[in-house]
Amino acid sequence: MTKRIPTVAILGRPNVGKSTLFNRLAGRRLAIVDDTPGATRDRKEAEATVAGRPVRLLDTAGLEEAPPETISGRMRASSEAALREADVALFVVDARAGITPADRAFANWLRRARKPVLLVANKAEGRLGGQQAMEAYELGLGDPIPVSAEHGEGIGALHEAIAEALPAEEQAGGAAEEGERPLRLAIVGRPNAGKSTLLNALVGEERMLTGPEPGLTRDAVAVAWTDETGGQVRLVDTAGMRKRARVSRGAELEQMAVGAGIAALKESEVVVLVLDARLGMDEQDLRIARLAEREGRAVVIALNKWDAVEDRAAARRRLDDVLATSLPQLRGVPVVPMSALTGQGVEKLMPAVRAVHALWNRRVGTGELNRWLEAAKERHPPPVVAGRRIRLRYATMPKARPPTIVVFGTRTAEVPEDYRRYLVNSFREAFDMPGVPIRLQFRATR
Ligand code: GDP
Ligand code: GDP
Repeated sequence: MTKRIPTVAILGRPNVGKSTLFNRLAGRRLAIVDDTPGATRDRKEAEATVAGRPVRLLDTAGLEEAPPETISGRMRASSEAALREADVALFVVDARAGITPADRAFANWLRRARKPVLLVANKAEGRLGGQQAMEAYELGLGDPIPVSAEHGEGIGALHEAIAEALPAEEQAGGAAEEGERPLRLAIVGRPNAGKSTLLNALVGEERMLTGPEPGLTRDAVAVAWTDETGGQVRLVDTAGMRKRARVSRGAELEQMAVGAGIAALKESEVVVLVLDARLGMDEQDLRIARLAEREGRAVVIALNKWDAVEDRAAARRRLDDVLATSLPQLRGVPVVPMSALTGQGVEKLMPAVRAVHALWNRRVGTGELNRWLEAAKERHPPPVVAGRRIRLRYATMPKARPPTIVVFGTRTAEVPEDYRRYLVNSFREAFDMPGVPIRLQFRATR
Protein backbone atom coordinates (compact mmCIF):
# COMPACT_ATOMS: atom_id res chain seq x y z
CA MET A 1 0.00 0.00 0.00
CA THR A 2 1.47 3.32 -1.02
CA LYS A 3 1.07 6.24 1.28
CA ARG A 4 -1.35 8.80 -0.06
CA ILE A 5 -0.23 12.40 -0.06
CA PRO A 6 -3.01 14.67 1.19
CA THR A 7 -4.35 17.33 -1.16
CA VAL A 8 -4.79 20.99 -0.30
CA ALA A 9 -6.93 23.01 -2.72
CA ILE A 10 -6.79 26.78 -2.93
CA LEU A 11 -10.17 28.31 -3.73
CA GLY A 12 -11.64 31.78 -3.97
CA ARG A 13 -12.83 34.40 -6.34
CA PRO A 14 -10.43 35.89 -8.88
CA ASN A 15 -7.69 38.27 -7.87
CA VAL A 16 -7.67 37.52 -4.15
CA GLY A 17 -4.13 36.17 -4.48
CA LYS A 18 -4.61 32.43 -4.89
CA SER A 19 -1.73 32.02 -7.31
CA THR A 20 0.53 34.12 -5.17
CA LEU A 21 -0.34 31.97 -2.19
CA PHE A 22 0.15 28.84 -4.23
CA ASN A 23 3.65 30.01 -5.15
CA ARG A 24 4.38 30.92 -1.58
CA LEU A 25 3.32 27.53 -0.28
CA ALA A 26 4.97 25.63 -3.11
CA GLY A 27 8.14 27.59 -2.50
CA ARG A 28 8.76 28.36 -6.12
CA ARG A 29 7.45 30.40 -8.98
CA LEU A 30 5.16 28.12 -10.89
CA ALA A 31 1.85 29.73 -11.49
CA ILE A 32 1.51 32.88 -13.47
CA VAL A 33 0.46 35.81 -11.33
CA ASP A 34 -1.70 38.31 -13.12
CA ASP A 35 -3.76 41.06 -11.65
CA THR A 36 -6.27 41.12 -14.45
CA PRO A 37 -9.35 39.50 -12.94
CA GLY A 38 -10.19 36.29 -14.68
CA ALA A 39 -6.87 35.93 -16.45
CA THR A 40 -7.00 32.52 -17.97
CA ARG A 41 -4.67 30.04 -16.47
CA ASP A 42 -4.54 26.32 -16.26
CA ARG A 43 -5.09 24.57 -13.04
CA LYS A 44 -1.76 24.42 -11.27
CA GLU A 45 -0.53 21.60 -9.18
CA ALA A 46 2.60 21.26 -7.12
CA GLU A 47 4.05 19.15 -4.39
CA ALA A 48 4.93 21.13 -1.35
CA THR A 49 5.98 20.59 2.21
CA VAL A 50 3.64 22.05 4.76
CA ALA A 51 4.83 22.01 8.34
CA GLY A 52 7.07 19.09 7.58
CA ARG A 53 4.53 17.03 5.69
CA PRO A 54 4.37 16.52 1.96
CA VAL A 55 1.13 17.73 0.41
CA ARG A 56 -0.24 18.14 -3.07
CA LEU A 57 -1.32 21.70 -3.72
CA LEU A 58 -4.05 22.57 -6.20
CA ASP A 59 -4.59 26.07 -7.45
CA THR A 60 -7.96 26.68 -9.02
CA ALA A 61 -7.52 29.41 -11.54
CA GLY A 62 -9.23 31.08 -14.39
CA LEU A 63 -12.51 31.58 -12.63
CA GLU A 64 -14.91 34.27 -13.71
CA GLU A 65 -16.44 36.74 -11.35
CA ALA A 66 -19.67 35.22 -10.20
CA PRO A 67 -22.88 37.17 -10.07
CA PRO A 68 -23.99 37.88 -6.50
CA GLU A 69 -25.56 34.98 -4.61
CA THR A 70 -24.87 32.55 -7.40
CA ILE A 71 -21.83 30.84 -8.64
CA SER A 72 -21.33 30.74 -12.33
CA GLY A 73 -21.10 27.39 -13.99
CA ARG A 74 -17.44 27.63 -14.75
CA MET A 75 -16.49 28.68 -11.30
CA ARG A 76 -18.46 25.89 -9.82
CA ALA A 77 -17.15 23.21 -12.14
CA SER A 78 -13.51 24.06 -11.59
CA SER A 79 -13.86 24.54 -7.86
CA GLU A 80 -15.96 21.46 -7.44
CA ALA A 81 -13.39 19.31 -9.14
CA ALA A 82 -10.64 20.63 -6.91
CA LEU A 83 -12.74 20.38 -3.80
CA ARG A 84 -13.61 16.78 -4.56
CA GLU A 85 -9.95 15.88 -4.50
CA ALA A 86 -9.10 18.03 -1.52
CA ASP A 87 -8.52 16.90 2.02
CA VAL A 88 -8.37 20.52 3.08
CA ALA A 89 -9.64 23.61 1.26
CA LEU A 90 -8.04 27.00 1.65
CA PHE A 91 -10.70 29.59 0.99
CA VAL A 92 -8.90 32.81 0.15
CA VAL A 93 -10.44 36.25 0.52
CA ASP A 94 -8.91 39.68 -0.06
CA ALA A 95 -8.65 41.47 3.28
CA ARG A 96 -8.06 44.79 1.54
CA ALA A 97 -11.03 44.63 -0.76
CA GLY A 98 -13.26 43.34 2.01
CA ILE A 99 -15.90 40.65 1.76
CA THR A 100 -17.86 40.74 -1.49
CA PRO A 101 -21.16 39.08 -2.42
CA ALA A 102 -19.16 36.60 -4.48
CA ASP A 103 -17.18 35.65 -1.37
CA ARG A 104 -20.42 35.07 0.51
CA ALA A 105 -21.82 32.88 -2.24
CA PHE A 106 -18.60 30.94 -2.28
CA ALA A 107 -18.63 30.55 1.49
CA ASN A 108 -22.20 29.25 1.47
CA TRP A 109 -21.31 26.69 -1.09
CA LEU A 110 -18.16 25.64 0.77
CA ARG A 111 -19.98 25.24 4.04
CA ARG A 112 -22.18 22.63 2.45
CA ALA A 113 -19.20 20.68 1.14
CA ARG A 114 -18.40 19.10 4.52
CA LYS A 115 -14.68 19.35 4.07
CA PRO A 116 -12.26 21.08 6.36
CA VAL A 117 -12.08 24.69 5.17
CA LEU A 118 -9.50 27.20 6.33
CA LEU A 119 -10.45 30.81 5.81
CA VAL A 120 -7.38 32.67 4.60
CA ALA A 121 -7.52 36.47 4.66
CA ASN A 122 -4.84 37.46 2.19
CA LYS A 123 -3.23 40.85 1.55
CA ALA A 124 -3.21 41.38 5.31
CA GLU A 125 0.33 42.71 5.44
CA GLY A 126 1.18 45.36 7.97
CA ARG A 127 -0.62 46.29 11.11
CA LEU A 128 -3.84 47.42 9.44
CA GLY A 129 -4.06 44.27 7.37
CA GLY A 130 -4.57 42.06 10.38
CA GLN A 131 -7.53 44.12 11.48
CA GLN A 132 -9.08 44.15 8.05
CA ALA A 133 -8.77 40.39 7.99
CA MET A 134 -11.13 40.11 10.95
CA GLU A 135 -14.00 41.25 8.78
CA ALA A 136 -13.96 37.79 7.26
CA TYR A 137 -15.42 36.36 10.47
CA GLU A 138 -18.83 37.18 9.07
CA LEU A 139 -18.47 34.33 6.58
CA GLY A 140 -19.05 31.83 9.34
CA LEU A 141 -16.06 29.71 8.42
CA GLY A 142 -14.17 30.12 11.65
CA ASP A 143 -11.23 32.33 12.49
CA PRO A 144 -9.70 33.99 9.47
CA ILE A 145 -6.00 33.36 9.18
CA PRO A 146 -4.39 36.63 8.18
CA VAL A 147 -1.56 36.24 5.69
CA SER A 148 0.26 38.19 3.08
CA ALA A 149 1.09 35.79 0.30
CA GLU A 150 3.09 38.46 -1.43
CA HIS A 151 5.19 39.46 1.57
CA GLY A 152 5.34 36.07 3.19
CA GLU A 153 3.64 37.11 6.41
CA GLY A 154 1.54 34.73 8.48
CA ILE A 155 2.66 31.75 6.45
CA GLY A 156 3.95 29.89 9.50
CA ALA A 157 0.57 30.13 11.16
CA LEU A 158 -1.06 28.98 7.96
CA HIS A 159 1.27 26.00 7.81
CA GLU A 160 0.31 25.15 11.35
CA ALA A 161 -3.39 25.45 10.61
CA ILE A 162 -3.08 23.26 7.53
CA ALA A 163 -1.13 20.67 9.49
CA GLU A 164 -3.89 20.61 12.11
CA ALA A 165 -6.59 20.20 9.49
CA LEU A 166 -4.88 17.45 7.52
CA PRO A 167 -5.96 13.90 8.13
CA ALA A 168 -3.85 12.24 10.80
CA GLU A 169 -0.78 10.51 9.51
CA GLU A 170 -1.30 6.82 9.22
CA GLN A 171 -0.24 5.02 12.33
CA ALA A 172 0.23 1.39 13.04
CA GLY A 173 -3.01 0.10 14.44
CA GLY A 174 -4.86 3.11 13.08
CA ALA A 175 -5.76 4.50 16.46
CA ALA A 176 -6.05 8.23 16.01
CA GLU A 177 -8.19 9.19 18.97
CA GLU A 178 -6.50 10.03 22.24
CA GLY A 179 -9.28 9.93 24.79
CA GLU A 180 -8.59 8.05 28.00
CA ARG A 181 -6.13 5.66 26.55
CA PRO A 182 -3.69 4.07 28.93
CA LEU A 183 -0.21 5.46 29.06
CA ARG A 184 2.12 3.00 27.41
CA LEU A 185 5.16 2.30 29.50
CA ALA A 186 8.21 0.15 29.02
CA ILE A 187 10.51 -0.83 31.87
CA VAL A 188 13.93 -1.56 30.50
CA GLY A 189 17.41 -2.01 31.82
CA ARG A 190 20.25 -4.38 32.31
CA PRO A 191 19.69 -7.81 33.80
CA ASN A 192 19.49 -7.68 37.56
CA ALA A 193 18.86 -3.94 37.74
CA GLY A 194 15.57 -4.65 39.48
CA LYS A 195 12.96 -4.45 36.72
CA SER A 196 10.86 -7.32 37.99
CA THR A 197 11.04 -6.10 41.55
CA LEU A 198 10.00 -2.65 40.42
CA LEU A 199 7.11 -3.98 38.40
CA ASN A 200 5.87 -5.91 41.40
CA ALA A 201 6.21 -2.85 43.60
CA LEU A 202 4.22 -0.81 41.10
CA VAL A 203 1.52 -3.24 40.27
CA GLY A 204 1.36 -5.31 43.41
CA GLU A 205 -1.30 -7.94 43.75
CA GLU A 206 -3.53 -6.50 41.05
CA ARG A 207 -1.01 -7.37 38.48
CA MET A 208 -2.77 -8.66 35.47
CA LEU A 209 -1.37 -10.43 32.50
CA THR A 210 -3.52 -9.66 29.54
CA GLY A 211 -1.93 -12.03 27.14
CA PRO A 212 -0.16 -11.71 23.85
CA GLU A 213 -0.37 -8.33 22.18
CA PRO A 214 -1.05 -8.21 18.49
CA GLY A 215 1.72 -6.43 16.70
CA LEU A 216 4.34 -7.32 19.22
CA THR A 217 6.51 -10.33 19.10
CA ARG A 218 5.29 -13.75 20.10
CA ASP A 219 6.60 -13.33 23.61
CA ALA A 220 5.04 -10.01 24.37
CA VAL A 221 2.57 -9.53 27.12
CA ALA A 222 0.89 -6.46 28.45
CA VAL A 223 0.44 -5.68 32.10
CA ALA A 224 -2.33 -3.20 32.77
CA TRP A 225 -2.99 -1.42 36.01
CA THR A 226 -4.37 1.75 37.48
CA ASP A 227 -1.77 3.85 39.21
CA GLU A 228 -2.28 5.74 42.44
CA THR A 229 -3.41 8.85 40.56
CA GLY A 230 -6.19 6.80 38.98
CA GLY A 231 -4.54 6.85 35.57
CA GLN A 232 -4.51 3.82 33.35
CA VAL A 233 -1.14 2.34 32.56
CA ARG A 234 -0.28 -0.36 30.16
CA LEU A 235 3.11 -1.85 30.50
CA VAL A 236 4.46 -2.84 27.17
CA ASP A 237 6.49 -5.72 28.26
CA THR A 238 8.09 -8.69 26.69
CA ALA A 239 8.17 -11.99 28.38
CA GLY A 240 11.64 -12.48 27.01
CA MET A 241 12.97 -9.39 28.66
CA ARG A 242 12.37 -10.67 32.12
CA LYS A 243 11.62 -14.33 32.22
CA ARG A 244 14.33 -15.47 29.93
CA ALA A 245 16.76 -13.45 31.90
CA ARG A 246 16.36 -16.01 34.65
CA VAL A 247 17.76 -18.62 32.36
CA SER A 248 20.56 -16.79 30.69
CA ARG A 249 21.24 -13.34 32.00
CA GLY A 250 24.14 -12.75 29.69
CA ALA A 251 22.10 -13.14 26.59
CA GLU A 252 19.35 -10.86 27.72
CA LEU A 253 20.75 -7.57 26.61
CA GLU A 254 21.50 -8.85 23.15
CA GLN A 255 17.96 -9.99 22.96
CA MET A 256 16.73 -6.71 24.28
CA ALA A 257 18.73 -4.76 21.81
CA VAL A 258 17.22 -6.71 18.97
CA GLY A 259 13.71 -7.95 18.53
CA ALA A 260 11.48 -8.04 21.52
CA GLY A 261 13.03 -5.24 23.54
CA ILE A 262 12.99 -2.86 20.65
CA ALA A 263 9.38 -3.70 20.00
CA ALA A 264 8.48 -2.86 23.60
CA LEU A 265 10.43 0.33 23.44
CA LYS A 266 8.84 1.40 20.18
CA GLU A 267 5.37 0.57 21.37
CA SER A 268 5.77 2.58 24.52
CA GLU A 269 5.35 6.28 25.07
CA VAL A 270 7.57 6.54 28.11
CA VAL A 271 10.57 4.36 28.84
CA VAL A 272 11.68 3.80 32.42
CA LEU A 273 15.34 2.91 32.40
CA VAL A 274 16.18 1.04 35.57
CA LEU A 275 19.74 1.43 36.85
CA ASP A 276 21.51 -0.30 39.66
CA ALA A 277 22.66 2.76 41.59
CA ARG A 278 25.66 0.93 42.94
CA LEU A 279 26.94 0.34 39.43
CA GLY A 280 25.89 3.62 37.85
CA MET A 281 25.26 4.08 34.19
CA ASP A 282 27.48 2.11 31.87
CA GLU A 283 27.74 1.70 28.10
CA GLN A 284 24.89 -0.79 27.96
CA ASP A 285 22.58 1.55 29.83
CA LEU A 286 23.60 4.40 27.56
CA ARG A 287 22.89 2.29 24.54
CA ILE A 288 19.37 1.64 25.75
CA ALA A 289 18.80 5.32 26.57
CA ARG A 290 20.08 6.41 23.18
CA LEU A 291 17.89 3.90 21.47
CA ALA A 292 14.89 5.25 23.37
CA GLU A 293 15.79 8.77 22.29
CA ARG A 294 16.25 7.74 18.68
CA GLU A 295 12.86 6.12 18.79
CA GLY A 296 11.44 9.36 20.07
CA ARG A 297 10.34 8.04 23.46
CA ALA A 298 10.32 10.08 26.65
CA VAL A 299 12.66 8.70 29.30
CA VAL A 300 12.69 8.52 33.08
CA ILE A 301 15.61 7.02 34.96
CA ALA A 302 14.81 4.85 37.95
CA LEU A 303 17.93 4.97 40.08
CA ASN A 304 17.25 1.74 41.85
CA LYS A 305 18.84 0.01 44.84
CA TRP A 306 19.30 3.42 46.45
CA ASP A 307 19.04 1.65 49.80
CA ALA A 308 22.31 -0.15 49.09
CA VAL A 309 24.28 2.96 48.18
CA GLU A 310 26.61 4.32 50.82
CA ASP A 311 27.76 7.63 49.39
CA ARG A 312 24.62 8.89 47.75
CA ALA A 313 25.96 12.33 46.91
CA ALA A 314 28.90 10.78 45.05
CA ALA A 315 26.65 8.30 43.23
CA ARG A 316 24.36 11.09 42.13
CA ARG A 317 27.26 13.24 40.99
CA ARG A 318 28.69 10.39 38.96
CA LEU A 319 25.38 9.84 37.25
CA ASP A 320 24.90 13.52 36.48
CA ASP A 321 28.36 13.63 34.92
CA VAL A 322 27.65 10.67 32.67
CA LEU A 323 24.29 12.15 31.64
CA ALA A 324 25.81 15.53 30.85
CA THR A 325 28.66 14.17 28.78
CA SER A 326 27.18 11.08 27.21
CA LEU A 327 23.47 11.77 26.90
CA PRO A 328 23.09 15.43 25.96
CA GLN A 329 20.19 14.57 23.65
CA LEU A 330 18.08 13.84 26.73
CA ARG A 331 19.24 16.78 28.76
CA GLY A 332 17.42 17.13 32.06
CA VAL A 333 16.07 13.58 32.00
CA PRO A 334 14.24 13.01 35.30
CA VAL A 335 16.04 10.76 37.76
CA VAL A 336 14.05 9.06 40.51
CA PRO A 337 16.17 7.47 43.25
CA MET A 338 14.31 4.53 44.74
CA SER A 339 14.40 1.16 46.28
CA ALA A 340 12.12 -1.24 44.47
CA LEU A 341 12.86 -3.75 47.23
CA THR A 342 11.72 -1.63 50.19
CA GLY A 343 9.31 0.47 48.16
CA GLN A 344 10.98 3.70 49.17
CA GLY A 345 10.77 6.36 46.49
CA VAL A 346 8.74 4.13 44.17
CA GLU A 347 5.73 6.40 44.64
CA LYS A 348 7.66 9.19 42.90
CA LEU A 349 8.04 7.21 39.70
CA MET A 350 4.58 7.45 38.16
CA PRO A 351 4.23 11.19 38.78
CA ALA A 352 7.57 11.66 37.01
CA VAL A 353 6.38 9.42 34.18
CA ARG A 354 3.14 11.38 33.86
CA ALA A 355 4.97 14.69 33.86
CA VAL A 356 7.38 13.71 31.12
CA HIS A 357 4.53 12.16 29.16
CA ALA A 358 2.64 15.45 29.28
CA LEU A 359 5.69 17.31 27.97
CA TRP A 360 6.17 14.73 25.28
CA ASN A 361 2.59 15.39 24.18
CA ARG A 362 2.81 19.12 24.47
CA ARG A 363 2.06 21.40 21.54
CA VAL A 364 3.52 24.86 21.50
CA GLY A 365 1.48 27.47 19.66
CA THR A 366 2.94 29.15 16.60
CA GLY A 367 2.99 32.58 18.24
CA GLU A 368 4.93 31.38 21.26
CA LEU A 369 7.20 29.30 19.09
CA ASN A 370 8.12 32.20 16.87
CA ARG A 371 8.70 34.50 19.80
CA TRP A 372 11.13 31.90 21.06
CA LEU A 373 12.84 31.66 17.66
CA GLU A 374 13.27 35.42 17.50
CA ALA A 375 14.74 35.54 20.99
CA ALA A 376 17.05 32.59 20.31
CA LYS A 377 18.30 34.19 17.10
CA GLU A 378 18.87 37.46 18.86
CA ARG A 379 20.93 35.87 21.58
CA HIS A 380 22.97 33.87 19.15
CA PRO A 381 22.43 34.72 15.47
CA PRO A 382 22.69 31.98 12.85
CA PRO A 383 26.23 31.78 11.55
CA VAL A 384 27.61 33.09 8.30
CA VAL A 385 28.57 30.22 6.03
CA ALA A 386 30.81 30.92 3.04
CA GLY A 387 30.22 34.61 3.45
CA ARG A 388 26.45 34.33 3.46
CA ARG A 389 24.22 34.45 6.47
CA ILE A 390 21.77 31.65 7.08
CA ARG A 391 18.32 33.13 7.57
CA LEU A 392 15.79 31.44 9.79
CA ARG A 393 12.41 32.99 9.24
CA TYR A 394 9.75 31.17 11.20
CA ALA A 395 9.00 27.94 12.98
CA THR A 396 6.07 25.61 13.24
CA MET A 397 5.41 22.60 15.39
CA PRO A 398 3.62 20.13 13.14
CA LYS A 399 3.44 17.44 15.78
CA ALA A 400 4.18 16.35 19.30
CA ARG A 401 4.93 12.85 20.58
CA PRO A 402 7.86 13.70 20.44
CA PRO A 403 7.87 17.47 20.01
CA THR A 404 8.84 18.22 16.43
CA ILE A 405 9.77 21.66 15.25
CA VAL A 406 10.30 22.77 11.69
CA VAL A 407 12.28 25.94 11.13
CA PHE A 408 11.95 27.57 7.74
CA GLY A 409 14.58 29.76 6.19
CA THR A 410 17.22 30.09 3.54
CA ARG A 411 20.43 28.06 3.23
CA THR A 412 19.06 25.83 5.95
CA ALA A 413 21.04 22.90 4.57
CA GLU A 414 24.14 24.69 5.77
CA VAL A 415 23.07 25.12 9.38
CA PRO A 416 25.96 23.66 11.39
CA GLU A 417 25.27 20.92 13.89
CA ASP A 418 26.31 23.04 16.87
CA TYR A 419 23.80 25.72 15.93
CA ARG A 420 21.08 23.10 15.57
CA ARG A 421 21.99 21.81 19.02
CA TYR A 422 21.92 25.33 20.38
CA LEU A 423 18.37 25.76 19.09
CA VAL A 424 17.24 22.43 20.52
CA ASN A 425 18.66 23.27 23.94
CA SER A 426 17.26 26.76 23.82
CA PHE A 427 13.83 25.35 22.95
CA ARG A 428 14.10 22.78 25.70
CA GLU A 429 14.89 25.49 28.22
CA ALA A 430 12.35 27.99 26.98
CA PHE A 431 9.50 25.48 27.14
CA ASP A 432 10.84 23.46 30.04
CA MET A 433 10.98 20.06 28.42
CA PRO A 434 13.61 18.01 30.24
CA GLY A 435 14.07 14.39 29.28
CA VAL A 436 12.06 14.63 26.10
CA PRO A 437 13.56 13.92 22.70
CA ILE A 438 13.15 17.00 20.54
CA ARG A 439 13.16 16.87 16.79
CA LEU A 440 14.31 19.95 14.95
CA GLN A 441 14.15 20.03 11.19
CA PHE A 442 15.00 22.75 8.73
CA ARG A 443 13.17 23.52 5.55
CA ALA A 444 14.36 25.82 2.84
CA THR A 445 12.01 28.50 1.65
CA ARG A 446 12.57 30.67 -1.35
P1 GDP B 1 -5.70 34.96 -8.06
O1 GDP B 1 -6.44 35.45 -9.24
O2 GDP B 1 -6.58 34.74 -6.89
O3 GDP B 1 -4.84 33.77 -8.34
O4 GDP B 1 -4.73 36.14 -7.60
P2 GDP B 1 -3.20 36.41 -7.95
O5 GDP B 1 -2.34 35.53 -7.14
O6 GDP B 1 -3.04 36.43 -9.41
O7 GDP B 1 -3.03 37.87 -7.33
C1 GDP B 1 -3.85 38.94 -7.71
C2 GDP B 1 -3.17 40.23 -7.39
O8 GDP B 1 -3.08 40.39 -5.97
C3 GDP B 1 -1.75 40.33 -7.91
O9 GDP B 1 -1.54 41.67 -8.34
C4 GDP B 1 -0.91 40.05 -6.69
O10 GDP B 1 0.35 40.68 -6.78
C5 GDP B 1 -1.75 40.64 -5.60
N1 GDP B 1 -1.47 40.03 -4.30
C6 GDP B 1 -1.37 38.70 -4.02
N2 GDP B 1 -1.09 38.52 -2.73
C7 GDP B 1 -1.00 39.73 -2.17
C8 GDP B 1 -0.72 40.21 -0.86
O11 GDP B 1 -0.47 39.44 0.07
N3 GDP B 1 -0.75 41.53 -0.65
C9 GDP B 1 -1.00 42.40 -1.65
N4 GDP B 1 -1.02 43.70 -1.36
N5 GDP B 1 -1.26 42.00 -2.90
C10 GDP B 1 -1.25 40.70 -3.17
P1 GDP C 1 15.71 -7.72 36.74
O1 GDP C 1 16.59 -8.72 36.18
O2 GDP C 1 16.07 -6.35 36.23
O3 GDP C 1 14.26 -8.00 36.56
O4 GDP C 1 16.02 -7.63 38.30
P2 GDP C 1 15.22 -8.28 39.53
O5 GDP C 1 14.00 -7.50 39.82
O6 GDP C 1 15.08 -9.72 39.27
O7 GDP C 1 16.25 -7.98 40.69
C1 GDP C 1 17.56 -8.48 40.70
C2 GDP C 1 18.08 -8.56 42.14
O8 GDP C 1 18.20 -7.25 42.69
C3 GDP C 1 17.15 -9.31 43.06
O9 GDP C 1 17.94 -10.06 43.94
C4 GDP C 1 16.43 -8.23 43.81
O10 GDP C 1 16.01 -8.61 45.09
C5 GDP C 1 17.48 -7.15 43.89
N1 GDP C 1 16.88 -5.84 44.01
C6 GDP C 1 15.91 -5.30 43.22
N2 GDP C 1 15.61 -4.05 43.61
C7 GDP C 1 16.41 -3.77 44.67
C8 GDP C 1 16.57 -2.64 45.54
O11 GDP C 1 15.90 -1.59 45.40
N3 GDP C 1 17.51 -2.71 46.50
C9 GDP C 1 18.27 -3.82 46.67
N4 GDP C 1 19.16 -3.80 47.64
N5 GDP C 1 18.15 -4.91 45.90
C10 GDP C 1 17.22 -4.89 44.91
